Amino acid sequence: MISVKNLSKRFGDKVVLDNISLDIAQGEVVAIIGPSGSGKSTLLRCLNLLEKPESGTIEIGDRVLDTRRYSTKEAYALRQQTAMVFQNYNLFKNKTALENITEALIVVKKMPKKQTQEIGLRLIEQVGLLPEAHQYPVTLSGGQQQRVGIARALAVDPKAILFDEPTSALDPERVHEVLQVIQNLAKNSTTMVIVTHEMQFAKEVADRVIFMADGHIVEQGPAEQVISFSDNPQTQRFLRQMT
Ligand code: ADP
Ligand code: MG
Repeated sequence: MISVKNLSKRFGDKVVLDNISLDIAQGEVVAIIGPSGSGKSTLLRCLNLLEKPESGTIEIGDRVLDTRRYSTKEAYALRQQTAMVFQNYNLFKNKTALENITEALIVVKKMPKKQTQEIGLRLIEQVGLLPEAHQYPVTLSGGQQQRVGIARALAVDPKAILFDEPTSALDPERVHEVLQVIQNLAKNSTTMVIVTHEMQFAKEVADRVIFMADGHIVEQGPAEQVISFSDNPQTQRFLRQMT
């Protein structure tokens, strides 16, 4: 579903992604862990060209793009393949929960209003927020806002959903409801890449865990193996700090 080859990204003189290659299968759930500043967000942002990589190819679904030269049209087509869930929800503050979810369907997909409402209501129900459908983000808890964020990502029917620390801005008692929604998506074989600091969650939900440090993939493997039984000193040091 996703195939990244030799992806590199610099900010000024600093190499943030150093020749990263990565394949993710359809229906696979991959958790990315690693210290702050290791390039996790940048990797996600490069996948949908929110950041422009220096080099490498990105293939998602049936789209391939050479990051050294691509047209606006190619970029647009690649972006349509994924949807992103952000740490700080990034909802439209002047739109209701339901309108946040249907916005892209109306503006980008140009669907008829009736159809956008049907899809929107189905998704808001799926994340358990039907009673809050017409509320504005400011009246929702962080956990509720993030569930709207996830429903919004699902609305465009992406090939994969990219999560950048979806629970790290939440109050501890609100983390569970968001993880539960992600867990349900995993059961439905939604392809997901999840940057997270929740090690227990990663172990439960991810098929594979990737440990990143300093712009490299240091280690990857089955979640249990990387999180509980890694013999890599760098991974061990990181995991010790997490607990
Ligand atoms: P992580 O998500 O793993 O914490 P990031 O991908 O956010 O790491 O950042 C990786 C490195 O790139 C860090 O050193 C960060 O300071 C730097 N960086 C990220 N975004 C920018 C930017 N827009 N401009 C300059 N440096 C950046
Ligand atoms: Mg980050």
